Amino acid sequence: MKWALLLFTFIVFVVASAISADVLPLAEPCDEELCKLPDCRCSSTVIPGNLKPHEVPQFVLLTFDDGVNVVNVATYRDILYKRKNSNECPIGVSFYISHEYTNYELVNELYNEGFEIALHSITHVNQTYFQEADYDRMMLEFADQKTLMSHFAAIPESSIEGLRIPFLQMTGNSSFQMMKSAGLRYDITWPTTRYTDPGLWPYTLDYQSIQDCITPPCPSASLPGAWVVPMIAWTDLSNFPCAMVDACFSLPGSNDEDGWFRFIIDNFERHYGGNRAPFGFFIHEGTVRTQPGLRRALIRFMDMINSMSDVFMVNTGEMLDWVQNPVPLGEYIQKPCRLTTPARCRPASCGPLVAPHKEELFYMQVCARCPRTYPWLGNPLGE
Ligand SMILES: [Zn+2]
Repeated sequence: MKWALLLFTFIVFVVASAISADVLPLAEPCDEELCKLPDCRCSSTVIPGNLKPHEVPQFVLLTFDDGVNVVNVATYRDILYKRKNSNECPIGVSFYISHEYTNYELVNELYNEGFEIALHSITHVNQTYFQEADYDRMMLEFADQKTLMSHFAAIPESSIEGLRIPFLQMTGNSSFQMMKSAGLRYDITWPTTRYTDPGLWPYTLDYQSIQDCITPPCPSASLPGAWVVPMIAWTDLSNFPCAMVDACFSLPGSNDEDGWFRFIIDNFERHYGGNRAPFGFFIHEGTVRTQPGLRRALIRFMDMINSMSDVFMVNTGEMLDWVQNPVPLGEYIQKPCRLTTPARCRPASCGPLVAPHKEELFYMQVCARCPRTYPWLGNPLGE
């Protein structure tokens, strides 16, 4: 009798955990007839709206990862602020921000400059940790970070719509399930080296993805409405693919401005002269700061594309707006520029704050009342 009860309990446990883990339906091959814009798109290299390449605005996605602080904001102010596209609209740049050591007064400043503020986790610990991350862990790292970021930078929660997982480590279905619960729109973690020429356009996970899986596990379930912005790899000087510019193996010398400029153009050309899939320029500020040749070449590249009538530096979210409702170039340039309602910051300097993960005491610049302890996993407001 006792054994029967134990066996019964065991069976209930197994069934219950199977249900909670596997409620997601497996994704099926994409059906173009059923999957239509604006909310569904099959993974493919076909241009949205079936436009011809010359009718497509070439979007450039410049993104920076990790914490925002007084050191890196100097570069941002210097090379990005007050820059405009050829249609007179301010350029867009997206920041995938991790929490530790981030100065939220500066995040508020970046937001008010019109740039996109997005998520890169609270802890940013290590690759294995994210590789094994289940739904609950992803909720703690990203859904909570959305609350944290919005609170301390005093920016609207609704303005935060994207994420990049540290180390470009995919987590299977869990990050996309989390996105749904947290009201996030897109992920920009997933590299592709197979679909670079022509490039893979952003798509949703309603159906099976054709994308190559570089950092498994990749999603297998049908996750309606979750957008994937593929990180289309660059080709380095030895013809190796690299998803982040600073992860390339063979690069021009740090003072070689011409070499860097040519390197950037060669990669840009593949998009601009191809199917015009968004051109990603994914990098860390430290790389730009410490390599004068790259810094000058990046400025030269931006000066060049900012004067081209069919190339636009935009926030990742703005690029997705176009993908969801594709219009020809002529119509696109007529559109009004994005408007950012300024988010007011009442600055506060907080600290020393005790943190749960380190002996170290933390100091924190925020646009809110000071937290009681250093905000961290499970306690995003530092209460
Ligand atoms: Zn990072």
